[in-house]
Formats: sequence, structure tokens, C-alpha cells
Amino acid sequence: MDNQLVLYNTLTRKKEKFEPLHSPFVGMYVCGPTVYSDVHLGNCRTFVSFDLIFRYLQHLGYKVRYVRNITDAGHLEGDNDEGEDKFAKKAKLEKLEPMEIVQKYTLGFHEVLRLFNTLPPSIEPTATGHISEQIAMVQRIIEQGYAYVVNGTVYFDVEKYVKEYDYTILTNRKLEDMLNNTRELNGQDEKRGRLDFALWIKAKPEHIMRWPSPWGVGFPGWHIECSAMSSKYLGDQFDIHGGGMDLAATHHTNEIAQSQACNHTQPAKYWMHTNMLTVNGARMSKSAGNGFLPHELFSGNHPLLSRGYSPMAVRFFMLQAHYRSTLDFSNEALDAADKGFKRLMNAMALLPKLKATAKKAAFKVDELRQRCYAAMNDDFNSPVLIAELFEAVRIINSIHDGKLAVDEQSLADLKTLMQHFVHDILGLIDDNTGSDDFERLMEMIIALRNEAKLQKDYATSDRIREGLSAIGIQLKDSKEGTLWNKV
Ligand code: AMP
Ligand code: ZN
Repeated sequence: MDNQLVLYNTLTRKKEKFEPLHSPFVGMYVCGPTVYSDVHLGNCRTFVSFDLIFRYLQHLGYKVRYVRNITDAGHLEGDNDEGEDKFAKKAKLEKLEPMEIVQKYTLGFHEVLRLFNTLPPSIEPTATGHISEQIAMVQRIIEQGYAYVVNGTVYFDVEKYVKEYDYTILTNRKLEDMLNNTRELNGQDEKRGRLDFALWIKAKPEHIMRWPSPWGVGFPGWHIECSAMSSKYLGDQFDIHGGGMDLAATHHTNEIAQSQACNHTQPAKYWMHTNMLTVNGARMSKSAGNGFLPHELFSGNHPLLSRGYSPMAVRFFMLQAHYRSTLDFSNEALDAADKGFKRLMNAMALLPKLKATAKKAAFKVDELRQRCYAAMNDDFNSPVLIAELFEAVRIINSIHDGKLAVDEQSLADLKTLMQHFVHDILGLIDDNTGSDDFERLMEMIIALRNEAKLQKDYATSDRIREGLSAIGIQLKDSKEGTLWNKV
């Protein structure tokens, strides 16, 4: 196993060698979507980033159990137990059952991730399917003395916790600053401490999603679902916990506190956080209303878009940035990514057509392969990997043009390298050409053009050539017949 992998751990704020707790098994938990509305492109970026990580770990030979939850209950509008329940609000608005909302947006989420060619996780648990596990965990936290019950609601006692543990370990903030940034309690508050958060919330009469519990009828807090489901499927300690950077300050900070209070262990060895997709520098979010929906981007049907882009071009656009850098959305950046993606796919389509021309190649595939692994081993650096793959594209094009010598073995190695890094690891496939149907369609068009030429119907043969050229397909007449490629 090629195990020089190094990754950035938010917990220690440095890059560390990846050493799984029980190699070759790897447990990875990633916070999934709250399915009360369509996923936007920002959410997709996070899931595409973890798809890259999942794919690369598997490629290295690890047996990964990838758990990504579906939040279908308990997420209030404010992260700090305030506001209405997101599902109930949407259900009222759309005049549907909350579970209809959940079903509708879960299906939409899966469909979008399928278009982005992400691999499904090994387990996709839902919060509503794990109420008893959450209740059991809350009970254990009460027994350990880190939670208290007020009028049917259970709060985590942060003030007690900070006496023994480092509450801000993940983000390294000062507790004082956190306190200063949190509103003061008033006479009506049930919480004892300003930073206390709800583990279980008493349901008001109008609250539809409700379950019986030892503390009365209520529903779980948002943070407890991830602690309960990650420990159920991955154990009290597992390898990687991931999510978007926006989750570190509250959601993940509270997850760590819950696990420590319950099991006296840090839940995850490595915490990984993906950076945000931004629009004109501002974070894309559902609440800010600056979110593009994936289908708007594919169709180009949005006032801010000059045209549509294929899901694979958008995936490529995302992978061109490192997962820990912000990525700003613009038409120009997408146009550039689209061109780059087509160039890569064009080279992929040429690969099977290449033939060995010499006893010794004029380039070294080994060195290129090592540089590709070095990029990915350096905290999954996909932009550097892509730059290396464009070196491969130059090599492929030169071989095709007869300008670069290649032997049998180097050609076979080059094909394997491209298969591994472009298809298996980056998860890029040609969503325009390359499919069997497309190949057959092209064969048919070329045959029609040849017939036209035989009958000296040059008007038709030229029309076909020009028509194809207008959509970026070039024909080249050669001894072997008519070849085509996409530019
Ligand atoms: P949510 O559905 O809001 O719970 O978010 C699902 C996932 O998407 C979380 O891991 C968030 O951190 C992540 N996320 C939300 N907004 C963005 C964004 N603009 N860019 C990247 N990831 C995001
Ligand atoms: Zn979570």
C-alpha cells in the first residue's frame, strides 16, 4: 500500500501522516445535508471534496466505511436551539407532511450527487431512524453528570464540561470570546449557562415531529444525531470526521463535547473541513439566497449565468481548487474549467487510438506517476494533480501527432495512469462523448458523409463537417479512414 498520505487535521492545526486506527480499515463520518430544500452548489462542493477523499483512500487499498447522514429532524433555524424547526416550517409552506418534504429533497439530493458522479456512502443513516440511539446517548450524558433536565428539555452543561475538558479544542477560540459573542441569558431562559445547548427539546403542542422519551414528548437536538450515529456505525473512536468549515465552530465543537462527556474519548482522530464555495466573495448559502441550484447551472437558466455547464465540467471546476481553499463562482472561471475539462476528455478519447511507435519512449511515465501520487498524498491536492495530468495530455497529443516516440510498455502505463487518476480518483467521466451510443452516432454520421462524398455531393459533406465543427467536433481524413475528436 502506497501510504505516504499526509492530511491536514483541524484538531491539531497541522498536516499529519495518515495512520488509521485499525488499518486497512478506515472509518469516515461526514455530516450530510439537511433535507428541507434543494441542495445548492456549495453543499455539492463539500460532498464532491469528500468523494475525492473516499475515492483516493479506496484507491490506496483501504477498506473504507463511509457514513454520511441525512438530517431529517431536529435542525432548528438557528444553530443555537432558536427559531422554528426547518422541516415543520417548510411543510407548512408547501402544505405537505414533514416526511414528504424529507422524501422529496432526499431524492433530489441523490439525483444531483449521481450527476456529479459521486460514489454512494457505505451507510446513509437518518436522524429519525435513530431516535432510540440518541435518547440512550443523552441518558448516558446525564448519568455522567454533564447534562440537566429543565421542564422536558435536556441541556448540555458546558460550564461543567470546561472544568475538565477543552471545549474549544477544535477551533482554538478563547472561551471568553465565545461567551462575549453569545447573548446573555434573561429571566425566561431555561439554560443555566450561556453556552449550554439542547440535547433533547420538549415539543410544543404544534410541533409535528415528536417522539416519547424519558423526559416527555420531544425531539432530538441537531448535534446529538451525528454523535449517536457515528458511534453506532464506526465505534466511539474512528478515523476521519468531516464536514464543511462552517460546522466546526458549533456543530462539531458540540459533537466532540458530547462524545467526551459520554465515552471520555475524542470521537475522531482526524477532523477534516472543506472550505466554502463563494459568490462574489460571500459564502453560498440557502439562507443568504445566493445559492445556485445545480439544475440551474446545468441548464444555464439563471440571470447570473451566461450559459449552462455539464455536471462533469462543474465537478472539474470544483476539483481545480484545493478542498481547503475557497472557490469563487464566476462565469469566466466556469468557462475556463469547461475548456480544460474538454481538453482532458479529448486526450482520454485519443488514448485507445494511440499505437506504440518505438522501442523506447521519449518520456518517463514513472516520474509522472510519482508526481501524481505526491500531489494526492499531500493532503489530497487535486489542483496540483490536475496540472500533472495536463502534462500527460501534452504527451498524449504529441504521440497522436507523431511528434513523440512511445513504446508498448510506456503506452500501457500511460493508459493505466489516466484510468486511475482521471476516472477512479478524480471521478471524471466524459458526459458528452465517449459513450457507446455517441461512438455509434459518430460512425453513422461519418458513413453518411462518406456516401455523400462518393456521390460527389460536396454540399452535404461540407455541411456535415461544418455542423460538427460548430459543436466542437473535428473530422480528420486519414489512411485509416475518417477520425474525429472533440476540441
Ligand atoms: P446543510 O444542508 O446546510 O446542513 O449543509 C450540508 C453540508 O454542506 C455541510 O457540510 C455544510 O458545511 C456544507 N456547506 C454549506 N454551505 C456551503 C458552501 N457555500 N460551500 C461548501 N460547503 C457548504
Ligand atoms: Zn453532523
